[in-house]
Amino acid sequence: MRLLKDIDCKNKRVFLRVDLNVPVMNGKILDETRINKILPTIQYLLTQNAKIILASHFGRPKSGYEEKYSLRFLQNVLQHKLEQEVLFEDNLNDAAQLTQNMQLGEILLLENLRFFSGETKNDLEFAKQLSNLADIYVNDAFSCSHRAHASIVKIAELLPSAAGLLLEDELDNLHKYLDKPNKPILAIIGGSKISTKLDLLKELSKKVDYIAIGGAMANTFLKALGYEIGNSFYEEEFVATAKAMLNEKFILPKDLVVVSSIDADDIEIVDIDHITKMALDLGPETVKQIIALAQKCKTILLNGPVGVFENPSFAKATNAIIKEVANLSQNNKAISIAGGGDMVAALTQVRLFDQMTYVSTAGGAFLEWLEGKELPGLLVLSC
Ligand code: ADP
Ligand code: MG
Repeated sequence: MRLLKDIDCKNKRVFLRVDLNVPVMNGKILDETRINKILPTIQYLLTQNAKIILASHFGRPKSGYEEKYSLRFLQNVLQHKLEQEVLFEDNLNDAAQLTQNMQLGEILLLENLRFFSGETKNDLEFAKQLSNLADIYVNDAFSCSHRAHASIVKIAELLPSAAGLLLEDELDNLHKYLDKPNKPILAIIGGSKISTKLDLLKELSKKVDYIAIGGAMANTFLKALGYEIGNSFYEEEFVATAKAMLNEKFILPKDLVVVSSIDADDIEIVDIDHITKMALDLGPETVKQIIALAQKCKTILLNGPVGVFENPSFAKATNAIIKEVANLSQNNKAISIAGGGDMVAALTQVRLFDQMTYVSTAGGAFLEWLEGKELPGLLVLSC
């Protein structure tokens, strides 16, 4: 892969594609990880006296400008973190002029790329407009590299291009721990739907020794084995797929935390042959079994919470598993790799993000990488 340090950025205009799609609620940024992680690349480019054109998407605007998806609010945040002025421009023609007039070492933030219809279409004309803003293209958004979008793929075909420091670091870590992982390997996979993780489960079936299933996904597997699952969430149309997929590597729940509805207070722990209500978390026996297995394994993959972790009543299994995996990692007993949007939120909630061996903040891209797929944004940067 072509790397940032291999290309000459001195005094050049650099289009830096980053992922500034930070979680925001009521105008407040809930987690600044994504912003903090791109600072080293920006700082490196500043040492090269480059003009930096920062570009990102934000949310999923339907068509054109929508105020709530504007990136303008990040101008101040970036100014504060970088301790220098950051320009902002929402018109690409004006931006082209601006990049000529900017001083070396100045930074320009562009408006949300998804306000432009060409972005998600990987449109050549739009990519040309973007490429007019710069001499060099740098991708520092691993988390977006599974998308064939104009600012990820097409622009990289038009300009000399390279991977940024964050992207390089993410790939280094994934390769380091997962190319030849220490065995045995345990994958703990939760989340709501089998349908979004079919390819992942298939790939893991080939590569790991044990796959512990939690979350609502487990309900579909239990249904496939003929258990009654009350009014638990499951995917009817994937019951047959789940059944066909099951093999001796899979570890399904033995007991579950159930309740008649999400805000009722009749919470109970039941064995899987007594589910009459809604299953929202793994039970203590299952957690014990998963923890015992984790203690025997050398590599542990975590993706997807094993319960409705957003609600403290159903976060116990997720938290207990995270704590044990953190403990094993800190004591050098196992390598732990965690990823997935909600998994990252669960780790942050119990403040154990930093205690994993490595956490990938890329949701979909991390999963596609684990699935062994070629990511178009990486392919275009390969030598
Ligand atoms: P990730 O983003 O880490 O890949 P997913 O998006 O697949 O995870 O799934 C996370 C969601 O799954 C969470 O919102 C969580 O509340 C939900 N979930 C977990 N267990 C259950 C369950 N038993 N019933 C319903 N939803 C669940
Ligand atoms: Mg998710």
